[in-house]
Amino acid sequence: MINIDTFWDDAKDELSKLIQTINYEIWVDSLVPVCIFENSLILQTSSKNAKKSIDSRFRDTIKDVVSTLNSSITDIQIIIPEQREEFLKKQTDFLENSGFVTVDPATKNTDETKNVFLKKYSFDSFVQGKSNSYALAACKTVAEHPGDKFNPLFIYSGVGLGKTHLLNAIGNYTQEIYPKKKVLYVTSDKIVSELISVILNKNNDESNRFREKYRSCDVLMIDDIQFLAGKEATQENLFHIFNDLHQSNKQIIITSDKAPKDLTVLEERLRTRFSWGLTVDIQPPDTETRVAILKTKALQEKFLLSDEVALFIAENAPSNIREMEGLLNKIIFFSSLTNHPINTKELAFEALHDFIEEKTETITSELIISTVSKYFKIPTADLFSSKKTKNIVEPRMIAIYLISELLSMPLSAIGDIFGGKHHATIIHARDKIANDIKSNNRLKIIVADLKSMIINI
Ligand code: ADP
Ligand code: MG
Repeated sequence: MINIDTFWDDAKDELSKLIQTINYEIWVDSLVPVCIFENSLILQTSSKNAKKSIDSRFRDTIKDVVSTLNSSITDIQIIIPEQREEFLKKQTDFLENSGFVTVDPATKNTDETKNVFLKKYSFDSFVQGKSNSYALAACKTVAEHPGDKFNPLFIYSGVGLGKTHLLNAIGNYTQEIYPKKKVLYVTSDKIVSELISVILNKNNDESNRFREKYRSCDVLMIDDIQFLAGKEATQENLFHIFNDLHQSNKQIIITSDKAPKDLTVLEERLRTRFSWGLTVDIQPPDTETRVAILKTKALQEKFLLSDEVALFIAENAPSNIREMEGLLNKIIFFSSLTNHPINTKELAFEALHDFIEEKTETITSELIISTVSKYFKIPTADLFSSKKTKNIVEPRMIAIYLISELLSMPLSAIGDIFGGKHHATIIHARDKIANDIKSNNRLKIIVADLKSMIINI
């Protein structure tokens, strides 16, 4: 079998010689090999913007290197995280017909019976906020008392909000306090490919090893269970493994992008079992938590992150923390490159220019107004009216402020939106909010939350 990761590592060695170091480090080094589909190597990058840059600048070089190393691969395709699931589905078919396997990055360097968890993903490095405190508390309890309390523990959230981080934290912690316990982390893609290999080889030894490996563990963590959609044989096997482990009070932890009841792509009997224990979700973090996460990450990199730049990234990044980290890394990288600290929001804007421009293209005054109206739970008609009650005046001024900050719209046009207001009134509203947020922390947080909601749509 050819390991796709080793293959990509070899390709990277070549690429690092061909592409200028700076560009290599920003664009190529972070690409993740996903699978091979129709003779194309599928590589994942972090965002649409990164994809655009890589496609226009490095695609041909990567393709040349890859096809020189293995002539059966004739092309490459750069995808964004949202497309991963689609390609992984295709991967199964590919695995049946070829000799490539994938290894999840979180389980790299592991032997079959014991995982090495990523040390940087610990409970200490996980920032607690309103959005994740239940999930964090549940994970700590389970790490301390595996099999005793919440079994199974089911964690769900959107991408990049910390599920894999928490699983690694549980692994690190449990292995530290119970060195004898066998803690196994596996992604659902990995179970599928293992099982396919068992089925293909029709080898009893391998099949026993598979069963033994899963049934002998004390803690079994399955990451991203939603990828078992349509994999009936794996679901069937998992059902039996689940029953065995649960009956002998072994801890099971599962993550997914949806709550068990909404995972309609899985068999009913699995869904029911998944909700036997405790289900917790992780919500996108608010601005304060995002700033705290950025500061923790910057500290890990020994980078001095100013409050102004932290807030700027937190407001402009999508709710996905992985992408937010990507922006922080760009700032760190540009700082080191120019030997010039990026410590003001103007410099940060320069560094993240491309990314922010693409985002702002989709923002409209209607979007801003409807977000403000939802946030304050007041009808949009009230924002357009001349009502002077306090609970309407402030949201209206905030909407005006956000429109003038985020869109390059003439003041008179903004006045027209708000029922034909004079441009002096618009200037007054805009300047009052701009001024008040300097001293009023409540207002500052409201505006930051609204900005990130608007930019994330
Ligand atoms: P998921 O598995 O939910 O897609 P990950 O666990 O891979 O997300 O998290 C993506 C990134 O965000 C990781 O680098 C992780 O360390 C970071 N992250 C997410 N939530 C937090 C948090 N509360 N504190 C610190 N880092 C976090
Ligand atoms: Mg994950």
